[in-house]
Amino acid sequence: MQSKLPNIGTSIFTVMSQLAAKHNAINLGQGFPDFPMSAELIECVNKAMQSGGNQYAHTNGVPLLRERLAEKIKYLYDVNINPETNITITPGGTYSIFCAFSTIIQPGDEVIIFEPAYDSYIPNIVFNGGIVVPIELEFPDYTIPWDKVKDKVKAAITPKTKAILVNTPHNPTGRVFTKDDILILQEIVLSNNLYLISDEVYEHLIYDNKQHETVMKYPDLFARTFVCFSFGKTYHCTGWKLGYCIAPENIMKEYRKVHQFNAFGCDTPKQIAIAEYMTNKEAYLSIGAMYQEKRDYLRGLLDNTKFVRLPSSGSYFESYRYDTISDEPDTVFAERLVREFGIAVVPMSAFYQKSTDHKVIRLCFAKVKETLDAAAACLQKVH
Ligand code: PMP
Ligand code: GLN
Repeated sequence: MQSKLPNIGTSIFTVMSQLAAKHNAINLGQGFPDFPMSAELIECVNKAMQSGGNQYAHTNGVPLLRERLAEKIKYLYDVNINPETNITITPGGTYSIFCAFSTIIQPGDEVIIFEPAYDSYIPNIVFNGGIVVPIELEFPDYTIPWDKVKDKVKAAITPKTKAILVNTPHNPTGRVFTKDDILILQEIVLSNNLYLISDEVYEHLIYDNKQHETVMKYPDLFARTFVCFSFGKTYHCTGWKLGYCIAPENIMKEYRKVHQFNAFGCDTPKQIAIAEYMTNKEAYLSIGAMYQEKRDYLRGLLDNTKFVRLPSSGSYFESYRYDTISDEPDTVFAERLVREFGIAVVPMSAFYQKSTDHKVIRLCFAKVKETLDAAAACLQKVH
């Protein structure tokens, strides 16, 4: 068979989780909470199943769930979203992003992404026949080099640049977009007639009194945008694989053509359950403070180690430099951490297409205190 993804291996998350299991290590690698999700939400699923919500849901998603999402967006961001025409429920955030790429990419189209980047973007673009144009965030602050982006877009002789993907709060760095970032992005997108894919799965995981700047608040920019979300992050149920995409009607029309003959629809009882549970605003309003406490707790534990923190104000990740400890490549160092110290992390180079090793590891702090204590005890031994 001729591979459609000849240069793609196994996801780093699978690799590190398997390695953690093999060595019985603490797993701060793959991002997922190790604490239970809401028992009340589980009860809502039971109820939905028992009252017969077990057949295909509407292809665009359970109507009540879409209505509740529109109400939530109005409440949080004061933006009017039409549940009929602007929202599609998807089997997870990753799928939501994949569908967006599939909707717009024609063979040979270029898509700008920023590296380090969540690991599904590049294979998604390549699979759809697109060409990845990676631009590196500036180490160690991980800011976007906007001038470079403008030059890149300007330098396209034929208008091959089709889209830009942005992610805020950002995985893996925890960087959060400011209003200025969005205004510059808007200018680039509009003046070059691009599409934007905005990965906002960590919208509620934001700290230090920062506000999530959703692209939906900028009508001219939103007119060319797919915004992708994940219920897995919001309700601590990454295994549910449920998310959604929000886009203007003309864009959503095309998106739904792709979705309807791909997944067609998503898990019915969980959609019904979330629709019911979503009226509890506290469930999502409280998670910023809850995760900030975890981040700060881990920070405190690692303060006296030789790891040097690269600050994060969003997502459930924080990164640390280890160049005062070792000059091993980050993949080698990460593997050694599992084998010798019993702790799994993610080497930052996994989020770059071409080998880029700043000697940084990413830790996931979505864990109970006991796990963070145990993880820190391992990391404190690394000199
Ligand atoms: N985007 C980013 C940046 C993520 O970290 C994740 C989490 N895996 C996703 C998208 C996808 O979310 P989901 O698990 O719902 O597919
Ligand atoms: N989003 C999570 C991470 O970045 C895990 C995603 C996955 O396992 N596919 O670690």
